[in-house]
Amino acid sequence: MDEFALIERYFAQRVGARADVRVGIGDDAAVTSFESGYELVVATDTLNEGTHFPAGTPARSLGHRCLAVNLSDLAAMGAEPLWCTLALSLPTGRADWVDAFSTGFVTLANAHGVALIGGDIVRGPLSMTATVHGRVAPGAAILRAGARAGDSIYVTGEVGMAAAGLAVLTGDAPVPRGSALVESFLYPAPRVSEGRALIGIASAMIDLSDGLHADLSRLLRASGVGAHLDADRIQLAAEPVERFGRERALEFALTGGDDYELCFTVPADRDAELRRAAAGWACSITRIGTVRARTEVIWHEGGQPRPVEDTSFRHFEDDGG
Ligand code: ADP
Ligand code: MG
Repeated sequence: MDEFALIERYFAQRVGARADVRVGIGDDAAVTSFESGYELVVATDTLNEGTHFPAGTPARSLGHRCLAVNLSDLAAMGAEPLWCTLALSLPTGRADWVDAFSTGFVTLANAHGVALIGGDIVRGPLSMTATVHGRVAPGAAILRAGARAGDSIYVTGEVGMAAAGLAVLTGDAPVPRGSALVESFLYPAPRVSEGRALIGIASAMIDLSDGLHADLSRLLRASGVGAHLDADRIQLAAEPVERFGRERALEFALTGGDDYELCFTVPADRDAELRRAAAGWACSITRIGTVRARTEVIWHEGGQPRPVEDTSFRHFEDDGG
């Protein structure tokens, strides 16, 4: 199949309809109508083989993940996702691979009511870039800057699962079937409805792609504040503790990446509202600490300070200059 047949069969025919898409896949560019009274929110992210996922990662997972990481960025702004585009670079045009990839991508897009409106497919090293467009009410987007001394710090879900899952996938031991760890890495669930529900509640928010400590530190830096954090409060799932022990599971939670959970701050007078909102969520929330005016990020464990290194990956650290 050439690229036109691949696009038609595995993308155009599978995309869910949206009334605001006037021209979708098939013309030189897409045309959408946009209700006045909103602000446009746009995010784009690339996944490269070897950097963001190991060679041999299932195609369906890659389709899911390359959209999920972008939906997670929109979630972290409190935005409602509407449309997306997809640029693919593939070493081969194998129809079974594209079929599985598109199944992962389009299933997640349709689950969130997001329309795939265009893209590109070229031959090259395995790489995929999705761009997601969404909307918020004017001024409502939840930024990284906005945390104030005294705000509580929360995180959704069980952090460290995906990093433990990646360690299982890239380790020597056989990968267990149906492992929740491995599923968390392959099929992260972007917290889109939760992010939207935090408008008017959270003072600042970020999604966790590089690890809880590294990403929370970015939020705090953007806000010009620091934090006291309690590592004992972090909810560790049973599977990483059983497989790797408590200490390594905690290390995955603090410094492991790929969680795509939300980390956010809430002023004291919004706390009751948060509890009410989160009661109906599919994921738990955990209060892990408090924002402080002093710009240090201090973790505690068993009442003692616990040093945490920022081990997050930097693409160009070794290039010199
Ligand atoms: P052009 O040469 O005009 O850029 P393309 O052949 O690249 O056209 O694309 C034809 C149509 O298919 C366009 O609407 C484009 O947005 C869409 N398209 C190409 N690749 C993808 C993809 N991976 N997913 C969705 N739509 C795509
Ligand atoms: Mg064209």
